[in-house]
Amino acid sequence: MAHIDWARAADLVVVAPATANTINRLAFGIGDDMLTTLALATTAPIMIAPAMNPSMYTHEVTLEAMTRLRSRGVEIVEPTSGDVACGENGQGKLASNTAIVIAALEQLETSTALAGKHILISSGPTQEPIDSVRYITNHSSGKMGSALARAALQMGAKVTVVAGPQRAAIPAAAKTIPVVTASEMMEAMTALAPTADWIIGAAAVADYRIENPTEGKIRREGNLVLELTANPDVLKAATAIKKEGAVIVGFAAEPDASLETAIAKIQRKGLDAIAVNNISTNGIGFNSEENEITLVHKDGRQFSSGRNSKLRVARWIFQTILDTTKGTS
Ligand code: C5P
Repeated sequence: MAHIDWARAADLVVVAPATANTINRLAFGIGDDMLTTLALATTAPIMIAPAMNPSMYTHEVTLEAMTRLRSRGVEIVEPTSGDVACGENGQGKLASNTAIVIAALEQLETSTALAGKHILISSGPTQEPIDSVRYITNHSSGKMGSALARAALQMGAKVTVVAGPQRAAIPAAAKTIPVVTASEMMEAMTALAPTADWIIGAAAVADYRIENPTEGKIRREGNLVLELTANPDVLKAATAIKKEGAVIVGFAAEPDASLETAIAKIQRKGLDAIAVNNISTNGIGFNSEENEITLVHKDGRQFSSGRNSKLRVARWIFQTILDTTKGTS
């Protein structure tokens, strides 16, 4: 029974390339060959790297199957865009060997550094309705929040993510509380804050809302002036009711390399540290796969993550804070 032996032996199952057919069989638990029976029998994490014709990749059935797999915790190494073997152009090219190997190694890096800890993370953008069809939001993809959740899980923590309407999938092993507006995020975060050992504000909370959104649709009649009300600070409110000794980490997306505004936020919001990223650098921060962080402690010490995948940066944030606050709190 090789499929059982191999399933037991695996630390990680990687399917690369994964065809549309295999993705659908994996999504629906069809076990009709060595690979799919092994995938059913294993308790190891599964990672797939899809490769197919771009129309097949964007077909509703394929997308639905991938959503099912993601929600069960399967990691997907997205195909890249370009000319594919059939002569078409679009997303469907197998990710590079390097990308697949890096993603696989990231899956395998586990520790017990956060065992027994409850980590509460705010993630993604918020949406503030203007009327029944329009809203104010921002470019946050939620990738950093999802990476923090995955990193904390890999380090043995129990994780709750209060997530705005974000594109990035949250690991299935985390508890997700979906919210839409800043007010909803506030309610969910403050309900959980007293139970958390770490609170991480990775959400890009909209600074303003419309106090009384219009029911129905605002019609176009010349110019329109919207009055905006400042949203409450979710992280500050969560910090005010934190468990004694809880570690509070904020994020700051800054338009330049200066750290002054970010440092002021440590004081204002009662943080232990703030992870600052300079959003003027191409390829890092909002909606990108990579990030580069300067972590500033409340005591003024600064640490630099170097440029890396968001998952590695997330692990580095946890590890750096664990290493540098030993004996000081
Ligand atoms: O927007 P700002 O730069 O002040 O965000 C810094 C930190 O505060 C982030 O961690 C963000 O998640 C948090 N924040 C919040 N509620 C707000 C604004 C920001 O929790 N209304």
